[in-house]
Amino acid sequence: MKIGIIGTGYVGLVTAVGLSELGHEVTGTDIVEEKIDMASRGITHIYEPGLDQMLKKNLKQGNLSFSSNLNKTILSSDVLFVCVGTPQREDGSADMSFVEEVSRKVAENLNAYKLVVEKSTVPVKTSMWIKRTISLYKKSEIDFDVASNPEFLREGSAVSDFLNPDRIILGAETDKAKDILKKIYEKFKDRILITNIDTAELIKHASNSFLALKISYINLMSEMCEKTEADVEQVAKGMGFDPRIGPLFLRAGLGYGGSCFPKDIRALTKIGEDLGINMNLLKEADRINLERISVYVEKIKKALWILKDKKIAVLGLSFKPETDDIREAPSVKVIQELIKEGSFLRLYDPKAMENMKEVFPEEQPQLLYAKSSYEAAKDANALLFITEWDEFKKLDLRKVKEVMANPIIIDGRNIFEPVTVRELGFEYYSIGRK
Ligand code: NAD
Repeated sequence: MKIGIIGTGYVGLVTAVGLSELGHEVTGTDIVEEKIDMASRGITHIYEPGLDQMLKKNLKQGNLSFSSNLNKTILSSDVLFVCVGTPQREDGSADMSFVEEVSRKVAENLNAYKLVVEKSTVPVKTSMWIKRTISLYKKSEIDFDVASNPEFLREGSAVSDFLNPDRIILGAETDKAKDILKKIYEKFKDRILITNIDTAELIKHASNSFLALKISYINLMSEMCEKTEADVEQVAKGMGFDPRIGPLFLRAGLGYGGSCFPKDIRALTKIGEDLGINMNLLKEADRINLERISVYVEKIKKALWILKDKKIAVLGLSFKPETDDIREAPSVKVIQELIKEGSFLRLYDPKAMENMKEVFPEEQPQLLYAKSSYEAAKDANALLFITEWDEFKKLDLRKVKEVMANPIIIDGRNIFEPVTVRELGFEYYSIGRK
């Protein structure tokens, strides 16, 4: 069985490498030649721990290859995993134009039975549209199936998530499609849930929206903590002991970002509203999340009073640790606000600086990219923590204090213990704690 991966971004590249690691013969394809060129040479265009080594290993073994020729990849594959982007449109709905484009390409190149698998996060009922599109554009009577196999990997631990999944959701209609998918995921047969396609599509959106909801919930509680003597870290800990709640995704902070949660919660809201369902629950979670930025900027103002001409060190640019992804990262919005206020910023991140330079070019007079946290902190009137990289947790805060103009920390991720930092002589502000 030959597998083609269409779209080798964060999900597609990990899927291509992961499926080849499971022993399958895989070809990855993308419209961006540079990504294909790099992957063919064993270089990943994204930072993802462990991916580089596994890519090199499978290229060498010969069961993984890359091609920028989409038509050829479709022609030579039995199974096609669609991993293209499904970004947000202005009205909140998912932009399905890349998926439609790929469906037409599949139709044009349908030379034998193919199973088309949606791996991208798509609205419920998308498979019906893919099926219709392929049927409309195909030039022969050749049979095909469409199935859904949503991806649950997390950036930063994508390789281990792919190789140790907690569940494999397979939405399929025909026995043939089910059998093919079961064979591909044979290794994880104890974790497979087979559903109809609508259900599989909805499981992904429902999962992401629920996680987003959980984060917004604890952030709402953090506001309550700030107005009382409660401590949000302990509230979360106390809640998390209850197995019905669980400890994960109860970290108060600057809210969720990234290319998934913000767009997925809005897409599900739009899908529900189009179906006549009141989706205010999800709208509120989104509102609470968006509000995190202004609440945080107010904290900075509370510490510095006037932001104009203040030197501010910004540590952590990626939307979460262990990734270089800055899509919908809270850092972008915080930086925009501070630039508007007239502050001078020194930015630092272990992996996301190159991506950030595309959003805020180095030439911009109000900002400077530092080579380390200490360089960013030099002469700063305040130090912001936006992403909780391990590297920041290990900082020598005494050294940081020595180089700063004013020892003020505004920690957006509750990285440090307030008592410890204050004992070192810092003025310390965090989220939902005194
Ligand atoms: P991405 O933007 O990194 O990758 C998409 C890739 O598709 C790009 O490389 C793009 O060049 C390519 N592409 C677009 N049109 C194409 C075409 N016609 N032919 C071939 N390639 C084409 O996006 P991503 O983060 O990998 O996400 C992809 C999908 O997976 C989205 O629906 C997303 O919601 C979902 N998802 C993402 C994650 C994540 O953590 N990033 C996790 C689970 C699910």
